[in-house]
Amino acid sequence: MSDIAHNLADVHARIERAAHAAGRDPQSVALLAVSKTFPADDVRAAHAAGQRAFGENYVQESIAKIEALADLRASLEWHFIGPLQSNKTRPVAEHFDWVHSVDRLKIAQRLSEQRPDALPPLNVLLQVNVSGEASKSGVTPAEAAAVAHEIAALPKLRLRGLMSIPEPAETIEAQRAPHRVLRELFDALRAGGLALDTLSMGMSADLEAAVLEGATIVRIGTAIFGARQYTH
Ligand SMILES: *Cc1c(COP(=O)(O)O)cnc(C)c1O
Repeated sequence: MSDIAHNLADVHARIERAAHAAGRDPQSVALLAVSKTFPADDVRAAHAAGQRAFGENYVQESIAKIEALADLRASLEWHFIGPLQSNKTRPVAEHFDWVHSVDRLKIAQRLSEQRPDALPPLNVLLQVNVSGEASKSGVTPAEAAAVAHEIAALPKLRLRGLMSIPEPAETIEAQRAPHRVLRELFDALRAGGLALDTLSMGMSADLEAAVLEGATIVRIGTAIFGARQYTH
């Protein structure tokens, strides 16, 4: 087995254990492999090991990778998860299947306008700043309902749920707290009439806490591909 295949098996085992501890079906937690900074060949190795959904953060890097893997396109699902500037929405609207990092209405409007008619609606998540840090993007929990209803009305998008990147925390209880805030907000939006089915939360360090609080997608980079070296 390649290192990547071995790491993927380990991550699946972590998801399974956490799901069982939470009394959840492990199949209800999807694994998004975060391949940012890693070459197309690593995505190919993960795909050969059965992985289908990949997350990317940087527009230029991701488009080059998607093009290098065009032969696999029909069996890959690409998720944009990084900060998105309004002048860079077009390639994302044209090449991705999902965007997790919609953090304001203007970005959603541009993605909807720029989504090609030949493609199905773009799946989007509203990013919520659950830790309240000034530096992190995302709407506040108080703003979320109003923005979510406006996004849900856009024609070429399908609002699927919420995403967050909480501040790192050491203990599982401290990791669970912000995930619980996101899940309660998700439940409230659903009760308010939005047909949401996706909670994107949890990374390599807090996967278990996220699954215990109801994550339906965990975004895992380091535990699959190894430590990143940033050249950006
Ligand atoms: C990089 C990144 C991840 C993956 O983080 P790891 O700690 O490497 O698992 C998940 N989500 C987002 C938004 C990221 O930018």
